[in-house]
Amino acid sequence: MHIAAATIPVKKGRLEVVCGSMFSGKTEELLRRVHRCVLAHQRVELFKPDTDYRYKSDAVVSHLGRELACQSVSSSSAITLLASSADVVAIDEAQFFDLELVSVCQNLANSGIRVIIAGLDLDSNAQPFGPMPQLMAVADQVTKVQAICSDCGNLAYVSYRMSKANSLVFLGEKNEYKPLCRRCY
Ligand code: ZN
Repeated sequence: MHIAAATIPVKKGRLEVVCGSMFSGKTEELLRRVHRCVLAHQRVELFKPDTDYRYKSDAVVSHLGRELACQSVSSSSAITLLASSADVVAIDEAQFFDLELVSVCQNLANSGIRVIIAGLDLDSNAQPFGPMPQLMAVADQVTKVQAICSDCGNLAYVSYRMSKANSLVFLGEKNEYKPLCRRCY
């Protein structure tokens, strides 16, 4: 029996990465893509690491004020457990997750789920941050977004930490970090 192609549901697994410095609009871009999936009546699960305590623990909020409900999880393995029935899995602040996030996202994409990741590509020492370089390597699509250098107005590439504390866990306080271009950094 012939079955029309349009009647067969096609799950298109893929891995998309949106990365850049702080204040580059990467969370805004993640939420823009998620919002379009919601409009298309797709089942979306949105996650962030529970180290990110800005604003709210149960929502992802962009600097421009866009907000969507999410689940805070302590490890990437929790995403596998919570995401199995989703059409789309979105993850914000992915740089704070363990390296296992790479295989978690690969397995989700291979099983037909669209995975959308947002995270800092570089830490405040301008080094690749956590699982982000591996995620960018295996992604189907990488989008780099850029902030504006707060010193000269050119395109920024790194988040400069104005205080001297050593921790890499930095959470976007506007008075503690600023985006800088290569020359000003
Ligand atoms: Zn500059």
